[in-house]
Amino acid sequence: QGLILAGKTAIVTGAGSGIGRAAAIKLARAGANVCLFDLMDDRTEDVEQEIRDMGREAEFYDVDVSNSGRMEAAFRAAAERFGSLDVLFANAGINGTLAPIEELTPEAWDETLSINLRGTFLAVKNTIPHMKTNGGSIIVTSSINGNRKYSGFGMSAYSSSKAGQVAFTKMAALELARYRIRVNAICPGAIKTNIGENTHRTKAVDDISIPVEYPEGSQPLEHGPGQPEQVADLVLFLASAQSSHITGTEIYIDGAETLL
Ligand code: NAD
Repeated sequence: QGLILAGKTAIVTGAGSGIGRAAAIKLARAGANVCLFDLMDDRTEDVEQEIRDMGREAEFYDVDVSNSGRMEAAFRAAAERFGSLDVLFANAGINGTLAPIEELTPEAWDETLSINLRGTFLAVKNTIPHMKTNGGSIIVTSSINGNRKYSGFGMSAYSSSKAGQVAFTKMAALELARYRIRVNAICPGAIKTNIGENTHRTKAVDDISIPVEYPEGSQPLEHGPGQPEQVADLVLFLASAQSSHITGTEIYIDGAETLL
């Protein structure tokens, strides 16, 4: 693929694990310097080191994407260090609490919406001042969930946040086209990552769930979940000039999971 992002600077949120981690490494391999936004976490240090070993610059920023003050400060610090920003991968997200709507607390709803949707808004908002002069590419990680598929009970908050991200992406693409900033959403199916680790699944969800005929996460193309690196390839394409006429769209990457 060559160094199609040589000299560019990318910010990746949720860079410590899963899809964000794979994308940070792939963007760096293509020549980009990468700012790694995540909660303080040992795993992020590994990514930082791996990128530095390639001869690129990598800098970790300890930031909760739902915290507006911390986000503004981190974007300012990244822009001061690297100059203009060329790529934003707004990817940090959680499953949050899986509970039937009757039992879902407003606090649990707010946590999921704050990280997944407000976090995306804050990332895009804080990118604009540093991207509007030279243009750039913004990629948002949504999901098949809340768009083409509703996989399982108890995911009302998650699905709402993921559908909201697609609507937000389209509005942002319209508004930011005048700055030659492209904005696209990616909608992965099940991908093998650590996202299940901090999911809080209430017993009531299991009680109302209806067994599905195929194993959860099965995809015709993979016979199981996809890999973060496969999603990272799509992120690299959308980040690069090879997708220069693509904006305001949502791209599904699910091994045909939504056709089942
Ligand atoms: P992951 O848990 O492996 O990685 C997510 C990263 O985001 C972690 O490093 C975590 O520390 C970070 N993060 C969480 N909350 C944060 C916050 N408030 N501020 C900053 N960083 C925070 O999960 P993943 O599967 O790689 O998820 C990445 C994105 O992909 C999410 O938006 C998720 O909804 C989406 N997604 C995942 C799948 C899947 O099957 N894994 C499918 C569709 C969409």
